[in-house]
Amino acid sequence: PCPCGYFGDARGRCRCTPDQVLRYRQRLSGPLLDRIDLQIEVPAVPAEVLQQAADGEPSTLVRERVSAAHERQMQRQGKTNSRLGGKEIDAFCQPQPAAAALLRQAISRLDLSARAFHRLLKVARTIADIECSDTIEAQHVAEAIQYRRFAKD
Ligand SMILES: [Zn+2]
Repeated sequence: PCPCGYFGDARGRCRCTPDQVLRYRQRLSGPLLDRIDLQIEVPAVPAEVLQQAADGEPSTLVRERVSAAHERQMQRQGKTNSRLGGKEIDAFCQPQPAAAALLRQAISRLDLSARAFHRLLKVARTIADIECSDTIEAQHVAEAIQYRRFAKD
């Protein structure tokens, strides 16, 4: 995230100036960043927390959900969402009206390219598949937008 690697560190170890951080991030070109679907900030985990038992759901359950989402995609369109082309996106990733309105807002606010827009739609389609939803709703688009946090700023 910054030249020293400690940006946002809870213990304040980052000594980079805002200007240094900005210049550092600008080295990642927009077109390159566009191709990264899920951009998530992952803060450092304190050692004492790492040593505690994991409290999330077991991986086997997550695996079942992912397999089911994959199966939905194959049945609907014969390929995964990530492999959909432009015309297929139009056919299979039509957002509901509220979701479409949210998308239009995001495009202008985040200044998204056509490529970034299509990728956002495919991520929203995938989130809907994981929730067993046939339609792309506003909440699916909202979640997909959260995964593009480095798109601007
Ligand atoms: Zn730093």
